Amino acid sequence: MAYQSTNPYTGEVVKTFDEIDDQQLETRLTAAQDCFEQVWRHKSFAERKAVLSRAAAIMRERSQQFAELITLEMGKLIAQSQGEVTLSASILDYYAEHAESFLAPEKLGTRNGDAVVESSPIGVLFGVEPWNYPYYQIARFAAPNLMAGNVVMVKHASNVPQCALAFERLLQEAGAPAGAYTNLFISKDQVAHVIDDDRIRAVALTGSEAAGAVVARRAGKNLKKSTLELGGSDAFIVLDDADLDKAVKHAVSGRMGNSGQACTASKRFIVVETLADRFLEKFQAAMQAFAPGDPMDPKTSLAPLSSAQALQTLLGQVDEAVAHGARVLLGGKRIEGQAGAFMQPTILTDIDDGNPAYAQEFFGPVALFFRVPDEAAAVALANDSPFGLGGSVFTQDVERGKRVARQIDTGMVFINSAAVSTPDLPFGGVKNSGYGRELSSAGIQEFVNKKLIRVN
Ligand code: NAP
Repeated sequence: MAYQSTNPYTGEVVKTFDEIDDQQLETRLTAAQDCFEQVWRHKSFAERKAVLSRAAAIMRERSQQFAELITLEMGKLIAQSQGEVTLSASILDYYAEHAESFLAPEKLGTRNGDAVVESSPIGVLFGVEPWNYPYYQIARFAAPNLMAGNVVMVKHASNVPQCALAFERLLQEAGAPAGAYTNLFISKDQVAHVIDDDRIRAVALTGSEAAGAVVARRAGKNLKKSTLELGGSDAFIVLDDADLDKAVKHAVSGRMGNSGQACTASKRFIVVETLADRFLEKFQAAMQAFAPGDPMDPKTSLAPLSSAQALQTLLGQVDEAVAHGARVLLGGKRIEGQAGAFMQPTILTDIDDGNPAYAQEFFGPVALFFRVPDEAAAVALANDSPFGLGGSVFTQDVERGKRVARQIDTGMVFINSAAVSTPDLPFGGVKNSGYGRELSSAGIQEFVNKKLIRVN
C-alpha cells in the first residue's frame, strides 16, 4: 500500500511517502502509551482546551494553505475545501469548549448510598479514516477523544498523506505532547497488528462496509469496542406538498457537493407522482449546468473524482445498472478531453428492485430517480435499502415531515434540506451504515469509562 499524493485533476504523482517499518511502529505505540499514562490523562480540561483551541486558531489563520492540500490530493473544489477547513476548526473549538460539561460527573438519585458516574479516559485509540473529507473526518475522531483525555493514533487513507501529516503537525504546533496524536503510514497487515496490540483500547473506522467488516472483526476478536461510520444511499423524499424549487436546489447540492463523494450525499431521489415530471425537468436542467475544470479555480463548478480508480468503479456501476434495465436520462459517461477523472452529472431512472443499483451506494455525481404514488410508498422505498445513514424529506407541513422522518430507518433525517453536518449534531447510522455516533455530546461518550463510584 503506497501513501501517495496524486493530483486527480492532472493525474500527476506529486509526492510519495514510505510506510513505516515494524520497529518504527513499535516506537510510536510506546510513545502513545507513555503519553497517555504519564502526561495526557493527568491534564486538566483547561490544559487540553488550550491545545485544541490553539489548533483551531492555526487552522483558521492558514486556512488557504490547509484547503489547497485537500484540493491537491483529492480534487475537492477549493471553496468546498475552505468550508471543510472552517468546519474542522469549529469541531476542535466545540469540544474544547464543551468537553468538560459533557463529561461532568453525574450524581445518581439512588436510594441506597451516594452514587456518582464519572467519565474517565480509556487509553490509546486507533482510527482508520477516509479521504473524502481529509481533515473533517479526523477532527471528528481526534477532537472529542483528546479532550476526554484519550490519545489517538490515525491511519489515514493512502491518497491523502500530505493532509494526514498537516493535521499531525497542526496538533504538535498547537502544543500537544509527543504521542498525543500520531499519524501512521502503515500497511493493512500493520493495521491488524495495531488492533491486536494490548496498548490499543478501542478502534473507530470511517469508510466502506468492506473495510469496516475487516476492522470491526479484528477489534471484536480482541474484545475491543469499535465504532463504524460506513456508506449510505440516502433517500431524498419529495412529498406532494413540497416547495419544488427548494427541493430541486437541495437535490442538486445534496447530490453534487464534494462531486457526490459524501457518505450522506442524497443518492436516491424518491418523488411522488404529482411532482415527478416537474421535479425531474428542473433537476436535469440544473445538473446539466455543471462544467468541469481545475478545482483550484474558484469558478469551476464540477470537480474530478478522487482518482482514476474511483471513476472506473462508478462507470462500472452505471453500466451494470443499464444492463439490468435502468435508463440514462442524463450523462452516464466519463467527460472526455480532460486529464482528470471527471464523471458526467448523471441521472438514472427505471431502476427496479432486481437491479444491483437498487441496493448500491453510488459514490459520485450519479442520481437514482424513483417515482412513487404516495407518501407510504416513498417511506417503504426509502427503507428498502441495506443502508441506514441519513435522508431528507421535503414537505411544507413540518409536522408531516417529522411523522415521515420517524418512519425512516436511518440515524439522521433532515426536513426540507439535504444533509448537513455541524459539530453539535450527532452523526452516524444504523444497518450497514455502521454503529456508534460522532460529533455532539454523543461523540465524546463513545470511548470513555462510565465509572460508577458508590459510597455505602
Ligand atoms: P475505504 O476503502 O474503506 O477506506 C477507508 C479507510 O480504510 C482508508 O484509510 C483505507 O486505507 C482503510 N482500509 C481499507 N481497507 C482496509 C483493510 N482491509 N484493512 C485496513 N484498513 C483498510 O473507503 P473509501 O472508499 O476510501 O471511502 C468511501 C466510503 O466511506 C464510502 O462508502 C463512504 O460512504 C464512506 N464514508 C462514510 C462516512 C460516515 O461518516 N458514515 C464518512 C465518509 C465516508 P487505504 O486508503 O490505504 O486503502
